[in-house]
Amino acid sequence: MELKKADARSGNFPDRINAWDKFYYTHKLIQNMDHKLRSPDFLSSYFSVGTVMQGLSRLFDRLYGIRLVPRETQPGEVWDEGVRRLDVVSETDGHIAVLYCDLFSREGKTPNPAHFTLRCSREISESEIQEASNSPHPFSSPVEAATDGMAVGLNKTTNTYYQLPTIALICDFSSNRLTRPTLLSFNDVRTLFHEMGHGLHSFLGRTPLQNVSGTRCATDFAELPSVLMEHFASCPEVLALFARHYDTDSPLPISALEERLAIDVQTEPAETEAQILLAMLDQAYHSNLPLQHDFDSTKTYHDVYNRHASIPEPAGTAWQGFFGHLFGYGATYYSYLFDRAIAGRIWGEVFQKEGRNGSVDRRNGERYMNEVLKWGGGRDGWKCIAGVLGDEKLAGGGEKAMKEVGRWGVRYPGLG
Ligand SMILES: [Zn+2]
Repeated sequence: MELKKADARSGNFPDRINAWDKFYYTHKLIQNMDHKLRSPDFLSSYFSVGTVMQGLSRLFDRLYGIRLVPRETQPGEVWDEGVRRLDVVSETDGHIAVLYCDLFSREGKTPNPAHFTLRCSREISESEIQEASNSPHPFSSPVEAATDGMAVGLNKTTNTYYQLPTIALICDFSSNRLTRPTLLSFNDVRTLFHEMGHGLHSFLGRTPLQNVSGTRCATDFAELPSVLMEHFASCPEVLALFARHYDTDSPLPISALEERLAIDVQTEPAETEAQILLAMLDQAYHSNLPLQHDFDSTKTYHDVYNRHASIPEPAGTAWQGFFGHLFGYGATYYSYLFDRAIAGRIWGEVFQKEGRNGSVDRRNGERYMNEVLKWGGGRDGWKCIAGVLGDEKLAGGGEKAMKEVGRWGVRYPGLG
């Protein structure tokens, strides 16, 4: 508002921020901050792709006893020469998952980062192995034949064979082919951690049935593992595991991280408001309103925004038509905020409870893995949350539990 007052003329509503001012003044606000941060390669010098992937592997090793091991691909195995294969290897169970990373933009590729399950985790039944051994097949064993020769592993806990999850992580990072190595921005690192959080859910989910494996849980809880990983991406103790300058090998200065996070302090409130408004609009569209004969989605859009938004929505706009998630999510768009609140709570109560080193402590990782990740969709989400937080009041879910989550509020990574 101060910035607007300083440069607005009398005919330009000097006393208020308009919808069309928002991005302009947000940009100005950031420009007024330390100029060093605005040079695009300042933090990214500490985030070469190889370093970040190695960092994720170290973090997962500390917390869950699993590592990401590069593996050469066979001819025809991947869909583009830039795709890299990593095998997920557990210190107790050996090979547990296959991960394909397709991280860089190219023509015709989607700009949206995503986690895709190419093949779910599931138990292979004794009868399937029997059937395979009774019929001719080109594989070296009946177990291999039962999974069409794709990755398989023995689950030592159940002493049964499992079809291993096969996952693709797709990002749209720009790769400047003139610089070596390829460097990621801080936002890219956060995106990669987010998508890898979905990946973790897939790697560590140990459900016998494929339809509840890994990320196939209630939509309300699907973003929890990924949003929680964003907290790790902003944590100095985690970054200390890997973030080093690609040329000088010096560690990332904590002050630089703090300055970068200060930008988020300026921009996150507006982002949270935008998410709250979208969640409210989504609820309105999935209420009884559309059953009325004079229902008008544009009017509902303006009603919600004019009642609750801090910046008035200009008349004559119909932005709701551009936002596909309003029908894709079917009344669960609130999950983003809901999971942000739960992730913030788990971060504080589990991973930071006994100090900042808790973010790399195996005991915390195992607690979270055993109460949440390993269940996929095979256990009620509220029971998972109650278990990891040690708060039985939440186990039954329902209105009271929802209110409790609302009371925690939204906590953004790195912002306390
Ligand atoms: Zn996500």
